[in-house]
Amino acid sequence: MPSQPVSQNDTPAVKPWIGTKIVATIGPASCSTENVTSLIQAGANVLRLNFSHGSLESHQETLDNIRSATDKLKTPVAILGDLCGPKIRLEKIENDSFEISIGDSLRISRKSVLGNSRQVSINQPDILNDINVGHRILIDDGNVRLKVVNKDSDGLDCHCVVSGKVSNNKGINCPDSDTQLSALTERDLECARWAADANVDYLAFSFVRSADEVHQLRKILDELDSDIPIVSKIETPQAIKNIDAIINASDALLVARGDLGVEMDVESVPFLQKDIVERCQRSGKPVIVATQMLQSMVDSPVPTRAEVSDVANAIIDGADAVMLSAETAVGRFPVETIQVINRIAAQTEKYDQNLRPPTIANSNCAGITCAIARGLEAISSQTNPVVVAVWTKNGELAQTLSKHRIDKPVVALTPSSTTLRRLALSYGVVPRLSEKPETEKKRIKTVDHLLLTEGWVKSGDTVVMGLGPQSLEFGDTGSITIHAVSS
Ligand code: PEP
Repeated sequence: MPSQPVSQNDTPAVKPWIGTKIVATIGPASCSTENVTSLIQAGANVLRLNFSHGSLESHQETLDNIRSATDKLKTPVAILGDLCGPKIRLEKIENDSFEISIGDSLRISRKSVLGNSRQVSINQPDILNDINVGHRILIDDGNVRLKVVNKDSDGLDCHCVVSGKVSNNKGINCPDSDTQLSALTERDLECARWAADANVDYLAFSFVRSADEVHQLRKILDELDSDIPIVSKIETPQAIKNIDAIINASDALLVARGDLGVEMDVESVPFLQKDIVERCQRSGKPVIVATQMLQSMVDSPVPTRAEVSDVANAIIDGADAVMLSAETAVGRFPVETIQVINRIAAQTEKYDQNLRPPTIANSNCAGITCAIARGLEAISSQTNPVVVAVWTKNGELAQTLSKHRIDKPVVALTPSSTTLRRLALSYGVVPRLSEKPETEKKRIKTVDHLLLTEGWVKSGDTVVMGLGPQSLEFGDTGSITIHAVSS
């Protein structure tokens, strides 16, 4: 069972320790400082700015709101910028949307037009060259489906085969067409520059197809003098084919089930999810499972039973984080959704901890960080501490413990505000900003003070403490200590 923080008079603290991290997409329903504050207080750890919607000015405003909320709350929260990638989207539609029925005709024009129920245009008209008569065109994650019946130099004529609502800016997938799209659009480059300037904590890369494309983005970030970790979104058949190379090239992965379920057979998504999560577990990279996790909560204060099971199963699969999209961006119940997902995570972890053995001892991870992590795991399994505390500069030791699901809160003390925010994505890690005192005695004192003040432990509880290799300075020893907390 996960430990829960307790206050000094032994009553449980308000917020129990939950290992699973929650990613919340920010949108019109949640972008004000007050709303962001409520999401963080409800338990959101990572906030996603989706560059597919809104201008960079509006994202800057949201970012300022997030920073002002986190400064006040003093809670480490990571910001995840999400590049659109070569996503094909509808352009603007008169009165924002229209309904289309089976058998209706719709023209996709090569020329940019204000869309209506007769014709629409898309943001990347060159791909019309790659779409042929008979191909399917799917709108809004496949909710509306068209079939191409005629092609000429000015566009495509289509028939509707699945009816529904066609709205501004909705995504388009062309699963039958071999579209020649570049990995990064002009808009992506502009957003990457903005993200580097704004010092966001993670950058998600949509529609990645190969490790080379990840290297290409990394090179662009290097040129911008930025080391933002890259989160590759897995949503195409090509990415599935190249999955191991993409995992190696990336800092984290995101199972983007929305587009994945359109680009590939929807019934294969559960198995692709399990496979990707397992590969990420083996390679030590954080993995987020995303999309429609609590979709019904966009309009309802309670989730469906199937959604609750889906979230729990993603956590049992080994997801480090679960992501909310429309639920928190445009939904009517963003705070309630985070409360619900937190409760599911807490319950699942309670059950799951009984199933999952500690794994660092059995893993093939190597190097000094792993050696320290193995030592911490071995000692903590013998001494059953309430908390494992680590001093970490770049977060590697905390991330290694996280990935191996050491079943205690890992309180990671770091002098780096960048590491602090990035660790907000790591399962089970409680990041805290702290300079490292020079002596071990002072480090123990600092740890005890923090744990007691925050209500993680009471006097007399056992804490195991370790130092990451980057935190070792000349003359230090890489010791692991076990001590009883003293006030
Ligand atoms: C998805 O397709 O599942 C996804 C997360 O991407 P986006 O929300 O950017 O469409």
